[in-house]
Amino acid sequence: MRIAVALETRTGETRVALVPELVGKLTGLGYVVVVEPGAGAGALHDDEEYVAAGAEVLEEPWLDADVVVSVNPLDASVVRRLRAGTATVSFLPVNQSLDLVADLRDCDVTSFAMELVPRISRAQSMDALSSQALVSGYRCAIVAAGLLRRFFPLNMTAAGTVPPAQVVVLGAGVAGLQAIATSKRLGAVVKAYDVRAAAAEEIRSMGAIAIELELETLEGTGGYAREMTEDRAARQRDLLAPYIADADALITTAAVPGRSAPLLVTAEMVEQMKPGSVVVDLAAESGGNVEGAQPGKVVRVGHAQVWGGANVPGQMPGPASRLYAQNVVNLVTLMTRSGGEGDGEALFAPDFDDEIVAGSCVTHGGAIRHEPTRAALE
Ligand code: NAD
Repeated sequence: MRIAVALETRTGETRVALVPELVGKLTGLGYVVVVEPGAGAGALHDDEEYVAAGAEVLEEPWLDADVVVSVNPLDASVVRRLRAGTATVSFLPVNQSLDLVADLRDCDVTSFAMELVPRISRAQSMDALSSQALVSGYRCAIVAAGLLRRFFPLNMTAAGTVPPAQVVVLGAGVAGLQAIATSKRLGAVVKAYDVRAAAAEEIRSMGAIAIELELETLEGTGGYAREMTEDRAARQRDLLAPYIADADALITTAAVPGRSAPLLVTAEMVEQMKPGSVVVDLAAESGGNVEGAQPGKVVRVGHAQVWGGANVPGQMPGPASRLYAQNVVNLVTLMTRSGGEGDGEALFAPDFDDEIVAGSCVTHGGAIRHEPTRAALE
């Protein structure tokens, strides 16, 4: 069976769904791997590397593929040219892709969404949300350190002592914890806040100070946060304002699944920050945690430079692609049965009774399997 690696067409995308280093994992299972020319260029992998690793390089490789892997969803024009029964594995933000999901259903494509892989222990190696959030969190801390015109660490020198930078991180999920860890490694004093009760212990385990506010915690389902009421959001902003005014660098990573990012910091709060301070908003693309942050831009608000994230994992395309590709290979491996008869050929045969397969499947057999999306389209 054939697995195609698609060239990403989304503007600014640098990642690729399979890196040459991992081609052997799929050919070893018995797949033929076919890569679209230039697919790895943004992540600095040329076509020759894929060929050397055992793949073929072909125009429009998805035309006779059994499985097509990509980072972003395929274009509708490509979906309409797939053979019935082809499977796709990619990020597929269903809420924002209803027309595409309808196309996938109508073209009898079996589609799997990486962000729907259940976050259970057995699926950790397939968890692309976590792998990409790890890259984003690291990148946010490095951007903050780069924009700040002063040291992160304490420096004791013959010429005197330079105090460490004060970093505040809001949202301590996978990205936030990585931003904390990276800022700590660079020597900053880090304080962090998250609405989930469990986060305080995780913040402390990274060597940071957990900001504790006199507010109820907001646990939702599946270990995620719940949305705030406007009243609680206003009280949270009031209580956080002094911490933000004290910070040299503020990094925000807060998100609530299926919702716009919560507004945690108003422009007025940023205006209270010191001259030279920096704000890094990872959530700028999904609504923004910080008022005024613009994706892909650095804007000035008061004395602060405010950096808005845009495809932040794509700013480190090598490691982001490597980790994403490993997630994809692990998911494809779960859905592969030996060809039998000792012929060494792989059989892509998802077991829909498996919780990971069922949970990540969006369309199959001409129907929408993901209930909330089916309801939204009916
Ligand atoms: P996420 O990207 O949805 O959110 C990022 C963080 O923002 C979360 O920690 C959330 O609590 C926080 N947040 C939301 N609203 C906020 C607000 N108003 N103020 C401050 N912070 C706010 O979450 P994520 O990083 O994908 O993961 C969240 C949780 O899931 C974590 O507990 C993580 O450890 C857990 N997780 C479990 C697994 C697994 O078991 N396999 C895998 C990944 C993550």
